[in-house]
Amino acid sequence: MKTVLVTGASRGLGRSIALKFAENNYNIVINYNNSKDEAQELEKYIKNNYKVEVLVIKADVSNEIEVKNMLNEIINKFNSVDVVVNNAGIAIDTIFEDKTIDNFHKILDTNLIGTFLVSKYASKYMLEKKEGNIINISSTNGIDTYYPYSMDYDASKAGVISLTKNLSKELSPYIRVNCVCPGWINTDMNKELDKDYIEEETNKINLKRFAEPMEIANVVYFLASDEASYVNGSILIVDGGK
Ligand code: NAP
Repeated sequence: MKTVLVTGASRGLGRSIALKFAENNYNIVINYNNSKDEAQELEKYIKNNYKVEVLVIKADVSNEIEVKNMLNEIINKFNSVDVVVNNAGIAIDTIFEDKTIDNFHKILDTNLIGTFLVSKYASKYMLEKKEGNIINISSTNGIDTYYPYSMDYDASKAGVISLTKNLSKELSPYIRVNCVCPGWINTDMNKELDKDYIEEETNKINLKRFAEPMEIANVVYFLASDEASYVNGSILIVDGGK
């Protein structure tokens, strides 16, 4: 049985990605940082509904020691990590004048350095097996700029796209590395947005709605599957059309 590590799986998109892989008979590693209760609830749900094993690991993806320990723990239990989904991410939206260097660092450290660190330590084991799959979650914000309030987040997501392209070369031919750029998704990340802004953004989307997390998880699963065996270094936009 294969094993998938989903970073930031306690809530939102990561939770749906973990469920999608559980449905498809993967052993699941649920990584979380703060939301212990949510991570444990997901563990319980998966164990009650699917015949797969689950490992819950608290680790801050921006902390090298914690990431290294997380990968060791996964290998000790499952003896391999076949798929990694670098999903953990944060946004701290504010007007330009209120942006701080500390918050800018925090966003880059989590979204970009976190993706680098997890890829670095996981690919070590994947290369030993000459097999593996990495899917990075960027955002359409990493391609186009819509919203100067999130210029720090957008820069981190542009970095994830660049990292994906380099990793797909560096880790070839054994590991496929791809990137998904979702548009708006109905998750906690958007719960503070005001109603008028949501309406304005919804009107720009051809499908006239935000995505449900499982609609993005389905695409992530496709990229990890053999159906996508020739997809490598791709940046896949999933935004309902614009
Ligand atoms: P969310 O509901 O806020 O969930 C974020 C997840 O990331 C949580 O599970 C959180 O875990 C985890 N996380 C944050 N910092 C972490 C850290 N340092 N180490 C480990 N885990 C950490 O957000 P979401 O909407 O599901 O976002 C998931 C991904 O999709 C992110 O990369 C985001 O940028 C991207 N995305 C989202 C949208 C959108 O509209 N929502 C659009 C495009 C792309 P804890 O709560 O346990 O700390």
